[in-house]
Amino acid sequence: MATETFPFQSDVSKLLDIVVHALYSNKQIFLRELISNAADACDRLRYLALTKPGLLGEDAVFRIVLTPDKAAGSLTISDNGIGMNRNDLVENLGTIARSGTVAFIEHLKSEKKEDFNIIGQFGVGFYSAFMVANTVEVVTRRADTNIGWRWVSDGKGTFTVEEVPKVNRGTHIILHLHRDEQEYLESHRLRHLVKTYSDHIAIPVFLREEDKEEAVNEASALWNRPRSEISTDQYREFYRNVGHSLDEPWLTLHYKGEGAIEYTGLLFVPSVRPFDLFHQDRKHHVKLYVRKVFITDDCSDLLPAWLRFLKGVVDSQDLPLNISREVLQHNPLLAKIRSGLVRRFLADLKNRSNTQKDYSVFWNNFGAVLKEGLYEDFERKSEILELCRFHTTASPEELVSLETYVGRMKDGQEAIYYITGDAAEVLMRSPHLEGFRAKGIEVLLLTDSIDEFWPATIGDFSGKNFVSVAHASPDLSKIKNVTEEGKDSTDEPKDQSSESLLRALKKVLGQIIKDVRFSDRLTESPVCLVADQNDMSLHLERLLRQHRQIDHTVPRVLEINPRHSLIRQLADMAQRDEESSAFKDAAFLLLDQARIINGEPLPDPTAFTRRMTVLMERGFNL
Ligand code: ADP
Ligand code: MG
Repeated sequence: MATETFPFQSDVSKLLDIVVHALYSNKQIFLRELISNAADACDRLRYLALTKPGLLGEDAVFRIVLTPDKAAGSLTISDNGIGMNRNDLVENLGTIARSGTVAFIEHLKSEKKEDFNIIGQFGVGFYSAFMVANTVEVVTRRADTNIGWRWVSDGKGTFTVEEVPKVNRGTHIILHLHRDEQEYLESHRLRHLVKTYSDHIAIPVFLREEDKEEAVNEASALWNRPRSEISTDQYREFYRNVGHSLDEPWLTLHYKGEGAIEYTGLLFVPSVRPFDLFHQDRKHHVKLYVRKVFITDDCSDLLPAWLRFLKGVVDSQDLPLNISREVLQHNPLLAKIRSGLVRRFLADLKNRSNTQKDYSVFWNNFGAVLKEGLYEDFERKSEILELCRFHTTASPEELVSLETYVGRMKDGQEAIYYITGDAAEVLMRSPHLEGFRAKGIEVLLLTDSIDEFWPATIGDFSGKNFVSVAHASPDLSKIKNVTEEGKDSTDEPKDQSSESLLRALKKVLGQIIKDVRFSDRLTESPVCLVADQNDMSLHLERLLRQHRQIDHTVPRVLEINPRHSLIRQLADMAQRDEESSAFKDAAFLLLDQARIINGEPLPDPTAFTRRMTVLMERGFNL
């Protein structure tokens, strides 16, 4: 039978190049990766066999066998799981399908310098075999066929696939080890590695030597054992196995739900933020088992999307075993499990937020995801609000809770004020904040995309509503000034000429703007643009336009500072002749200035430049 040669997908080649040349000190994790693939393959066949028991035949007990061969210098990892057909081999071992690895490649592309040690953060799955082997052979037969296949590669750009007769069901990975990696043929080394990294995968691992087979792992489902019997190390290694990661779990939640429905959850919060957290097609990383039988790792109803950073296992005694994944999605018992897990997780997180300094690690990694719950999960919103942390104008470095914020509100302050934008440093300089600063009012600096959505729908916290400072006319009149700048800002009567300036500006600017109003908030700047009370914020409009979700612009309110000398001069000018081209130019320049300071693009830069040139020439001629 002919042998076919295939090139690796270019990303795989690149990855292999890095893996092979990795200065990576943790090469031994290859064994964990291959054992975890073998266990996954057994889990998948066990699931299929629930409805097609014939698939198992005589060979019904799942197992993984390690066979070192010192004479040949090879280590074989065998399983009697689902196996692969020709197409599976080409697809799964020739391309990068796994989202974590895709993210890894993207990360490498964005880095100028190739940081080898970063591999450790990701784990590169099957390809880690090439860290220790110069040739990798995969001999495999899928459970539903009689034809076996052999895949061979030296990891240098191509692989071959050929048909082979008489292969046991499942997959046999044969590593032809590098000369200086022969330690992986020593039984004590292998035993130690399995104990350390793979003790609690649910499939037994055997070491075969001279026709003897010895079980080397515990092979019990870790989650079913009592907490008191599980060490931190065991939890950590289990996390690394199920989570495909090498970091420490930031939080471990091991929880037994009892009562109407019995289930166990062993869930982890990573300490490192995965790169694909905001990818559209990111899957859940929580595996669902029913009575220790793996059902699926893609059950979107098991946990809400705003907890998609959790990794781990949920096992239930009470779900029916022979249930299809599709039917499962709508199972009412599943909804009960979900709400139990969410409740318990939020309680643990709250506890951790009160007692541990490192809560900011969690918040910086996953706060933006958790906040999606404020918008999506009406029932949980007050619990989630308590867990939120913010940078504010008074505390740009340290994170503060809403409780702290409310505790230090000014006398007369009735709302929680916030401003949205891309970066806190830029927001800190926004003219919208001038009046708030003058009165010493703290403002939340919100820089995640989701922040555009939840404050408007959330209602209140502790009886205080959320109010955007970039929207029209928050009433600050009840709050005393703390600095000179804002003095008399509110109660000073507007004179005749200011009133007619408003009218004249409205007339010149017409439909481009929604309104021109006097501002309470400006102390230093002459003008700013704000969104009218029920309109979307300027920042949101910018975001939506970037993502091409809208193509129109919403007319805005131009606020002017009647105390500013420029505005006073303009008022005089309007009184002299509001039809003059000089006044009209000034009106447009004022608007453009407000756009610039708000970070808005100028709709007509040419007109802006022309007016500016005229103005400068006139100025220089004085
Ligand atoms: P992951 O395990 O995260 O999917 P890997 O790189 O470890 O990524 O493996 C890639 C794919 O190759 C797996 O998803 C699976 O489809 C296939 N595969 C690897 N090892 C085996 C095996 N022992 N039996 C069956 N399929 C396997
Ligand atoms: Mg894997």
